[in-house]
Amino acid sequence: MTALASRSGRSTPADTRRRLVVIGNGMAGARAVEEILARGGAVQHRITMFGDEPYGNYNRIMLSHVLSGEEDAGGIFLNSLDWYRENDITLHAGVRVEKIDRFAKLVFSDDGRATPYDVLIIATGSRSFMPAVEGLYTPGGRLLPGVFAFRTIDDTRGMVSYAQEDHHRRAVVIGGGLLGLEAARGLQSHGIGVDVVHSGGHLMNAQMGPDGGAVLRRSVEALGIRVHTSSRTTAILGGDKVRGVQLRDAPDIACDMVVVAAGIRPNVEVAVTSGLPVERAIVVDDHMRVPDEDEIYAVGECVQHRGEVYGLVAPLWEQAAVLADHVTGANPKATYLGSRTATKLKVAGVDVASMGLQAPERDTDEHVVFSEPSRGVFKSIVIRDSKIVGATLLGDSRKVAYLTQAFDRGLPLPEERVSLLFDLGGPGEEDGVAELDGDAQVCNCNGVSKQAITDTVKGGCTTLSGVMDATRAGKGCGSCKLLVRQVVEWAADGAVDEDPAAAYYVPGVPLEKAALMAAIREQGLRSVSAVFAALAPGGAEDAKSKMGLASLLKMMWAGEYIDERDARFVNDRVHANIQRDGTFSVVPQMKGGVTSPEQLRRIADVADKYNIPMVKLTGGQRIDLLGVPKEDLPKVWADLEMPSGYAYGKSFRTVKTCVGQEFCRFGTGDSTKLGIEIESRFQGIESPAKLKLAVSGCPRNCAESLVKDVGVVAVDGGRWEIYVGGAAGAHIRKGDLLATVDDPETVTLLAGRFMQYYRERANWLERTYAFVPRVGIEHLRAVIVDDAEGLAAQLDAAMQESVDAYVDPWNEGNDPFTPGQFRTSLPLEVLPQVPVR
Ligand SMILES: Cc1cc2nc3c(=O)[nH]c(=O)nc-3n(C[C@H](O)[C@H](O)[C@H](O)COP(=O)(O)OP(=O)(O)OC[C@H]3O[C@@H](n4cnc5c(N)ncnc54)[C@H](O)[C@@H]3O)c2cc1C
Ligand code: SF4
Repeated sequence: MTALASRSGRSTPADTRRRLVVIGNGMAGARAVEEILARGGAVQHRITMFGDEPYGNYNRIMLSHVLSGEEDAGGIFLNSLDWYRENDITLHAGVRVEKIDRFAKLVFSDDGRATPYDVLIIATGSRSFMPAVEGLYTPGGRLLPGVFAFRTIDDTRGMVSYAQEDHHRRAVVIGGGLLGLEAARGLQSHGIGVDVVHSGGHLMNAQMGPDGGAVLRRSVEALGIRVHTSSRTTAILGGDKVRGVQLRDAPDIACDMVVVAAGIRPNVEVAVTSGLPVERAIVVDDHMRVPDEDEIYAVGECVQHRGEVYGLVAPLWEQAAVLADHVTGANPKATYLGSRTATKLKVAGVDVASMGLQAPERDTDEHVVFSEPSRGVFKSIVIRDSKIVGATLLGDSRKVAYLTQAFDRGLPLPEERVSLLFDLGGPGEEDGVAELDGDAQVCNCNGVSKQAITDTVKGGCTTLSGVMDATRAGKGCGSCKLLVRQVVEWAADGAVDEDPAAAYYVPGVPLEKAALMAAIREQGLRSVSAVFAALAPGGAEDAKSKMGLASLLKMMWAGEYIDERDARFVNDRVHANIQRDGTFSVVPQMKGGVTSPEQLRRIADVADKYNIPMVKLTGGQRIDLLGVPKEDLPKVWADLEMPSGYAYGKSFRTVKTCVGQEFCRFGTGDSTKLGIEIESRFQGIESPAKLKLAVSGCPRNCAESLVKDVGVVAVDGGRWEIYVGGAAGAHIRKGDLLATVDDPETVTLLAGRFMQYYRERANWLERTYAFVPRVGIEHLRAVIVDDAEGLAAQLDAAMQESVDAYVDPWNEGNDPFTPGQFRTSLPLEVLPQVPVR
């Protein structure tokens, strides 16, 4: 359990604001708070939030992208810890509320705290439903190793690492709804074969009828996913870990992992224990208030309103707005009357939209259907009394904006019904967009209306990416991107053609990398603020561009670079890696992975002295001291008397080495010596993304050189192979052979030249595994080995300049850059001691 709280959020004697406590820091809880703040609620309320996940608030919808590796877990946060601090909100992350005392107006949490409230919001969401299947749990009550739910960041990370273990090849996903299909698709991207077992007669039966389900099944099977419908899992086979699943009426399926995506159940335990009304979920009235409780509200998936419980985000945006109107008194008449569940999603890469009825119910209902299974397209519309009462679109959602509008508002329909499905003189896409109401929701994931997009465009933002950044529209599941573009084009009167921002090196400066570097050089811009002042429109600073610019400037100017600390990410400000509880990890330098008894003794003493909860060997052959509070960093560094090992930041990190010629029977090259030389030369140099290297003493490749950004392998005859662009993280790629050379000196020279070329040409955050295939190994060979463009001397000199400018950042421990550099801004609780196993 970890407490992360904003100091500024603590009460002061003069603070007379009402105490607003929120239980649940998920999508609904945080949105309700955002809506409250937007109505000036911070002046009236002192806000405290509890979330039992040890993080800030993230976009749960994006977990599917994290699972598939398209998105990094760090990239899905909606509100950073800074947001809580800036808005004066105390956040208890990783703390579970166990009970509410409605009479004393206190909430009790599992860290032993009793927190008083004047107004309470319950936003505890749902959890995965685990069906009664034999063998799902160990005798100790934990999920059997290899079984996963799919609800949280931790579930997703667990799945990714399990799927990436070499010997895991097959998974069974229980449930063929939205989540199950997303899980199946995500697992495939880790090379896992997937079977989906679904108890319904067809896939996504909550959203569509059997005909649509059959077309979807074809599309899903075309992706290589095996589908078993009308099939029930009766047991998980294995004993100590998953080895297969047993089905009721079909042969067993062998597998290494099982993902349960069989539905959700609202988290109502706190409400039940505290005596609040709970049926299928926590009962609320049209003001989102719990009946008979003046000051207790509930919102999101944990809520039952007029008998309905919702499992998608769009309804909770509407609920949060009404709740905020009441809590702040902005509009005491606001009412929530329920949501029409028009769903627009991208499931396993297939566009799916569904609203209202799946099929005709009365003899007089009209049913317009188009089906083209070979293209994965299915469209069905149910019409009653000349109004749309239901629609399903699969594989082609171009008409979705108009249909949603017609469904919501009961618009009169064209005589020629087929024009509802295709543009045959009926309302075209443009007309559809023009006809949308201002408050029509364009992006369901992030609750963005047409009006919000239109206002942003009218405010002067006319690029698609600019509007997406400003409003968050299109930044959830991505299924509405086309509609967002259409609304932007409509609002800008067709003035949006191409979006040049896509090619900019950083979003805040409208230049591609080469042009940006030329302008920086010509104008002698040596600091991030100087670049903004000279090159950004209106000289405006852009927070998202700062890290990329800082890295670029440091690479270009080496020792002449003017360092401005606010341009750095916290890791680079304090030269250590921030961990999920807000403490840091310290990795001292051990060149080539080599250490000495003396260093080991010192590390052990430091670990004892500072009560370091965990000492861990890293994948890069270094020792990691985890759980160090920020204020202890300088003391830890001083006592270690070792330089930084660069386990943080976008820079050259380590060179992993094998034993090599000196000791190994097979070695043909002294890999340890060469690894140490390379690491000594390039330590800490900035780059667009992290750089991990390795040197192996023979083709047995014990240092795994083929999957490194730069990997070196000694081969027969005293020669060395140099590979570039390898990776073995979320993305796996074998590096391409750049050159085979005769001596270690040439290895160091070419490795440096490649890294400099990459530093100058790669996009910000583009790893070498993406850069090398983009540029092409033949081109790289020509430039770096054969000097075909006459750049070699220049690249070598630029690299030498960076090497000469190297200063160990841990020196700042004795002489902090700013007085607050190593002062913690968050009260921290030290993590529990981890036993040595
Ligand atoms: C993988 C995935 C993909 C999805 N895709 C889509 C999609 O494409 N479109 C869509 O509309 N919806 C989608 N959803 C559903 C959407 O994420 C939910 O509707 C939404 O997150 C509900 O918000 P909430 O705040 O009610 O619940 P949550 O986001 O679950 O937040 C509730 C939070 O409260 C915490 N909590 C619970 N009890 C306590 C307690 N006692 N004390 C402290 N904290 C507590 C929980 O741990 C959780 O962090 C998806 C969901 C998942 C899991
Ligand atoms: S790569 Fe070759 S030299 Fe290095 S440890 Fe393995 S077998 Fe020995």
